[in-house]
Amino acid sequence: MTLEMKTCYACGRTIASKNEMGLNRKLLGRGVERFFCYGCLADQMEIGVDELMAKIEEFKSQGCALFE
Ligand SMILES: [Zn+2]
Repeated sequence: MTLEMKTCYACGRTIASKNEMGLNRKLLGRGVERFFCYGCLADQMEIGVDELMAKIEEFKSQGCALFE
């Protein structure tokens, strides 16, 4: 997987972390072309950022390769 720079589709913030990218792929699908930062992704999913963080930990504990 290449770590090219993405920007948030909603607010334009740079998405630089692997976990942020991984979460987009995990929640929106692997073929996702529009990426969102944590804040906007939480809005999209209608959950809080803290729940988003909990999901990352959950996916990581499952050994998902999209996260570090
Ligand atoms: Zn954003």
